[in-house]
Amino acid sequence: MKRGIGTAMLLLVLALVGASVRSEEAGKMKNIRKVEFGTSEDGKKVDLYILTNKSGMEVSITNFGGTVVAIKVPDRKGKVTDITLGYDSLDGYLSDKSYFGATIGRYGNRIAHGEFTLKGVKYTLARNNGENHLHGGIKGFNKALWTAEKTSSSGPTSLRLRHVSKDGEEGYPGNLTVQVTFTLTERNELKIDYSAITDKETVVNLTNHTYFNLGETDTILEHELMLKASHYTPVDAGLIPTGELRDVKGSPFDFLKPTAIGARIDQDDEQLKLGKGYDHNWVVDGGSEKKLKLAATAYEPKTGRAFEVWTTEPGIQFYSGNFLDGTVHGKGGKAYPRRSGFCLETQHFPDSPNHPNFPSTVLMPGAKYYSETIYKFFTK
Ligand code: BGC
Repeated sequence: MKRGIGTAMLLLVLALVGASVRSEEAGKMKNIRKVEFGTSEDGKKVDLYILTNKSGMEVSITNFGGTVVAIKVPDRKGKVTDITLGYDSLDGYLSDKSYFGATIGRYGNRIAHGEFTLKGVKYTLARNNGENHLHGGIKGFNKALWTAEKTSSSGPTSLRLRHVSKDGEEGYPGNLTVQVTFTLTERNELKIDYSAITDKETVVNLTNHTYFNLGETDTILEHELMLKASHYTPVDAGLIPTGELRDVKGSPFDFLKPTAIGARIDQDDEQLKLGKGYDHNWVVDGGSEKKLKLAATAYEPKTGRAFEVWTTEPGIQFYSGNFLDGTVHGKGGKAYPRRSGFCLETQHFPDSPNHPNFPSTVLMPGAKYYSETIYKFFTK
């Protein structure tokens, strides 16, 4: 009899535990939905993961290229709109050359002549941007099919993507195992954290290439931008940094106070001409410390949409979409004209492997690469 009651109690406890585990799982699952997104060129199934929070924000990410496909946020009247450039289906991303929303690696931005030397050994990378190497090469991380997993830790909804880049891929040394975790918080933050390990000394510089347009206008020129950076890295004709850290004071590169992107973009300035607008790396103030700090804010006055960018990275590439030219048709068949979206790519400086005065991008075996960026959305 005693044993009977004990067994019944045990069964009850087990049933309750089971139910709570199930409801907890269901709770986690309801914030992340997986739908089919298509088939890759080599016949593999590609998925789209839709992360939602209770404040009505939604972020869609595909494991093809670790790509942010959509970020839906309300304007000041509560109207929810996707504020990113991209495509409606996988096909667009398979042939994309603009890096819409993509995870960029192994190396964000350019490496001069696709060459660098580590411990006396010279490495030659793919040259996919004139004579330079751009965004990881011909088949960068933006064209890789990542392995996805929903994280089961308690707390906000996260999607973790993994990718192994083989030794010698695009010319880079070392097998590199990369993990990128996208988290949508209840405070309307999209947090992206990156980690990587290698089995040979290599260079790593990971970022995300989302193009934003917070308004409903064709260009982003009326957005007000603040960059918390007193210096930037001027470039040569190939958009390779010269090595100088130049003070922004008195120049169209001074965004220390919020300023419309279009206010000075067509000024007669040598650096603006070279970039065909803004396409430069800013040196984030206090960026040498590897802690989260505010790097940028963007605000669109008509809709009131705004976001802050917080990062552990020392640099931020502000690219004003100068190479968009209306020939790419994106979401809803819409043509994307010049400067219809802008990127704020948190990163180490371009071409760092060839500039000993820049913060190092070298990753050693046994060490861990870690980087974190938060895009925090709000209205005002
Ligand atoms: C670079 C641009 C490049 C663009 C590609 C940006 O990060 O700075 O120069 O054209 O990516 O879409």
